[in-house]
Amino acid sequence: MTNSPTSLLPEMAQIWQETLNWQPSSQQQVQFQQLYELILEGNRQLNLTRIIDPQEFWEKHLWDSLRGIVPQGQFIPSVQEGASAIDIGTGAGFPGIPVIIAAPNCEITLMDSTRKKITFIEKILTELALTNAKTIVGRAEEIGQQSRYRQTYDLAFIRAVGPASVCAEYALPLLKQGGLAVIYRGNWTQEETTSLQNAVTQLGGIIESIESFTTPISASIRHCLYLRKVETTPAKFPRSAGIPTQKPLG
Ligand code: SAM
Repeated sequence: MTNSPTSLLPEMAQIWQETLNWQPSSQQQVQFQQLYELILEGNRQLNLTRIIDPQEFWEKHLWDSLRGIVPQGQFIPSVQEGASAIDIGTGAGFPGIPVIIAAPNCEITLMDSTRKKITFIEKILTELALTNAKTIVGRAEEIGQQSRYRQTYDLAFIRAVGPASVCAEYALPLLKQGGLAVIYRGNWTQEETTSLQNAVTQLGGIIESIESFTTPISASIRHCLYLRKVETTPAKFPRSAGIPTQKPLG
């Protein structure tokens, strides 16, 4: 096993092309490699991720992050037009940092409730010279009620932060009307769609589409839910810290 995702790139270049109809530039490849090395280094002090094998890192962090912004083989139009986006509960920077690297025209805010994770991310942004990024330390329930953030984003990404209805309650208040939330999931069922439907309606959104796909190396099943904000989200959402998780909408 190699210890560098970059050394896997001859194969990976073909997979990027076949699955996303996209290939990273040489600068983007270097940035992906630097990101990997910085995360391995950061893992020595912070519990950032268990995914450290290079191939697994490539698939579960790099590829998976970008798959969400390329539904049906096309980049989400607002990504190409230079959207403002927010990654809610970014952790070690996923899916946000790969999107920042792949979509340099977008302005992307990385938000997490844990200060030390954001401090680490700020170091990555500096070392990778990524200027199209901002950070916020805060809880989604509080940030979503602040007028400087509420209804200001074209896109919201959210992966592994909680049940889908909780993710919807965090994301939809932050979107402009017409904006899109991308919720990254593993398995997903029709019953879950039915219960999410009610939550999304209360938040002023619709479930625009749900994509099911298999990952290119381990053939794991993944889903992305695309929620469109069609009406203003009622002021009572998001509810106070902890309430969305304790009493999920449904
Ligand atoms: N999105 C990353 C990923 O997929 O690798 C990290 C997922 S990690 C399991 C969940 C992250 O969400 C943690 O870093 C946690 O601090 C953050 N988080 C959980 N609840 C949050 C909230 N209400 N507001 C902001 N961040 C939150």
